[in-house]
Formats: sequence, structure tokens, C-alpha cells
Amino acid sequence: MDSEHVRRAIGEVATAYGLCKEPSNVAAGGQSCPLRFRCLGCEHFHTDVSYLPDLEAYLADLLRSREKLMSAFEADDWARSEAMPSEEEIRRVRRLIYRVKTDLDDLSAEDRAQIEQAVSVVRRSRTVMLGMPLVGQPLPDVRPWRSA
Ligand code: SF4
Repeated sequence: MDSEHVRRAIGEVATAYGLCKEPSNVAAGGQSCPLRFRCLGCEHFHTDVSYLPDLEAYLADLLRSREKLMSAFEADDWARSEAMPSEEEIRRVRRLIYRVKTDLDDLSAEDRAQIEQAVSVVRRSRTVMLGMPLVGQPLPDVRPWRSA
């Protein structure tokens, strides 16, 4: 119901792969995360089945990044280790995906079909707002009237 969506949305804000309920971040419209958007390790984060494709894509991205950084990639040790996805984060994403899929598997075929239909509606209508501060692209410095 619309009123239920509005009531729930008041105390939460969209973030990557789910929703954030941290009061100061919610009050700031998702622009003031005290944990620098490490949502997967935060007690104020929650997610649901509608984010499953995003979680799977994120896991694939983490694994790709890890492979790339472990290959012959020139970088200082400190930079490489800070950029390397942590085993804990990878484990956490895998666990979330597993839990969501297990919950889906426990449903009857009819319930699962209803959930999948609801998820496709939610994903279509979801506005993309990851709760992360945006930095605009610099405008190109093109001045055709100037001579070279
Ligand atoms: S880490 Fe994510 S869930 Fe936690 S306070 Fe920050 S934005 Fe919210």
C-alpha cells in the first residue's frame, strides 16, 4: 500500500544494495555516512530480495578486482592493499546472497512467482540513488572561437 511505503521510507534512505536506517545519515538524505558507506558491515544496513541482482554483480566485481590486483599490476604495497577487497567483505556478500536465495528456495512455486513479479515492479520503479555523494564531471574546456 502507498501509505505503508511512505511510512517505511521516512526512517530510511537508499544506499548501495539496500537501505540505511542510521538516523544522522537519513536526516542528511544519505549524504552523511559515518562509516564511509561500508554498508555491508554496518548494523544500520538492510537489504532484501529485490537487491539480489545488485549483490551478485557486486560480488563478481569484487572477485574481478581481487584477481586484477593479484596479477602483475604495478602499484605500491599500501595502495594495493587498500584497494584489495577484503576476504571479510567477500564472505559477507556471499552470505547475504546465500541467505536471500535460501529464503526464495523455501517458498512454494506460487509464492516465488509472486515475489519475482513484485521484485520486477520494484526494480523498475526504483530510482537510482546510492546515497553516496556525487562529484560532477568537469565541464570540457572547449572554446571553438579561440585560435590555437
Ligand atoms: S555504512 Fe551504509 S548503512 Fe551504515 S550508516 Fe553508512 S550508509 Fe548507512
